[in-house]
Amino acid sequence: REVTTQYDAVVIGSGPGGEGAAMQLAKKGRNVAIIEKHSSLGGGCTHWGTIPSKALRHSVSRLIEFNSNPLFVGDLRPRSLTFADILRHAQGVIQQQVQMRSGFYQRNDVTVLHGVASFEDRNTLKITQADGTIEYIGTKQVVIATGSRPYHPEDVDFNHERIYDSDTVLSLKHEPRSIIIYGAGVIGCEYASIFRGLGVKVDLINTRDRLLSFLDAEISDALSYHLRNNGVVIRHNEEYERIEGHEDGVTLYTQSGKRLDADCLLYANGRSGNIEELNVENVGLKPNHRGQLEVTGAYQTEVDNIFAVGDIIGYPSLASAAYDQGRICATEMLEGDCQKRLVSDIPTGIYTIPEISSVGKTEEELTEQKVPYEVGRAQFKHLARAQISNMAVGSLKLLFHRDTKEVLGIHCFGERAAEIIHIGQAIMEQKNGGNTIEYFVNTTFNYPTMAEAYRVAALNGLNRVRD
Ligand code: FAD
Repeated sequence: REVTTQYDAVVIGSGPGGEGAAMQLAKKGRNVAIIEKHSSLGGGCTHWGTIPSKALRHSVSRLIEFNSNPLFVGDLRPRSLTFADILRHAQGVIQQQVQMRSGFYQRNDVTVLHGVASFEDRNTLKITQADGTIEYIGTKQVVIATGSRPYHPEDVDFNHERIYDSDTVLSLKHEPRSIIIYGAGVIGCEYASIFRGLGVKVDLINTRDRLLSFLDAEISDALSYHLRNNGVVIRHNEEYERIEGHEDGVTLYTQSGKRLDADCLLYANGRSGNIEELNVENVGLKPNHRGQLEVTGAYQTEVDNIFAVGDIIGYPSLASAAYDQGRICATEMLEGDCQKRLVSDIPTGIYTIPEISSVGKTEEELTEQKVPYEVGRAQFKHLARAQISNMAVGSLKLLFHRDTKEVLGIHCFGERAAEIIHIGQAIMEQKNGGNTIEYFVNTTFNYPTMAEAYRVAALNGLNRVRD
């Protein structure tokens, strides 16, 4: 085997984790290559994950908004949309993203190599191209950013044309009138909102006793209430016994003895790391049973010139975090002893309809940790901007220390929650006493805005302390 080219660093996978690392290394003058097995760049994030699901959701939520807005009556009402309609918008966004990302690599002199990467040894990678051509390249350092894929239990027939996962649902062959979504994690809840918004009958099967149990219970309850109110049937504490695909639909038998029928099924219960093709055993790395690798705080694996970021290292498995992990990892590779870390409070954005976002502690965590806290709430329906914009469903909940007034957690439910949260997050990160709810009371907000919810919630919370 002949090594064709020698690089300072090679990044495997062009999702947000790989992109963050490759860009940072290239900007600091390293000779970098990125290997991607898919025919275009951007990773699962761009092609099957974050971007398409958010684009689909956007179209559906606009449809709902128009249909519920008293301004749009009669002929002004849009016709109903199909999955194929909203997919066209998503595909347009994917194309723009791919083009933009390809430009980044070109402008920063990152060499893009297409093919499946695997380790020969800790400094040599084999690349198998789609036509079978094999190339070997040499490198001083490697970043593994190969992401994850939907988990496939052996007893579910994913080759059946009515049974989908979150990747294949984007090539849905039938416009369903009904769908069973198995798994009520973030992906399951987001797709439940999308399909229900299109008028599809949705059965959402949750293997646990409440939705998204990592959320503040009040927010998780609000999500259940609104999904149910919009017509989603949620079944908690259910697991499948058997899933059968037929010519014209699917049947799911639950362990509790129920039989559910639908036009198709989306299996969205768990993910596995993309590890197998890498042959990491050739360098002595041992993934866990979910195909994930263990790393240090600066993303170094047990092999000191090999690093790993993004979904392949597990929690939090977010595009937002993967990009920053890539940048931190690159700093460690360039300088060593990198002290930079991800922010301790990573915000969560959940793009259900309505949207959810949170940062910091939940009420349940504060109770368990015996922290003296108080709650301030703002209902969107009381905000002028929400009334004007037809966004009255939702609320902002501020949790703060009863004595110091330090902001400890923010939980937002309603349209634009994922944007609104960042105001509070910025305050939580202030040092020297700048992180208290007093900020929201003493500052002047634009009027009318959704951001005003912070002031309303802070005043509400301070009143409770005084009471
Ligand atoms: P990926 O983006 O998965 O990219 C990995 C790349 O590596 C892929 O292109 C793959 O082809 C390539 N690859 C794999 N093996 C090899 C190999 N051997 N050789 C060469 N190339 C290889 N996160 C958010 O922050 N916000 C959201 O709203 C959000 N929504 C989501 C919705 C869905 C439906 C899904 C599935 C995920 C969502 N996520 C979201 C999670 C987010 O998409 C992932 O956390 C993120 O994509 C992980 O980035 P990554 O760089 O680790 O891997």
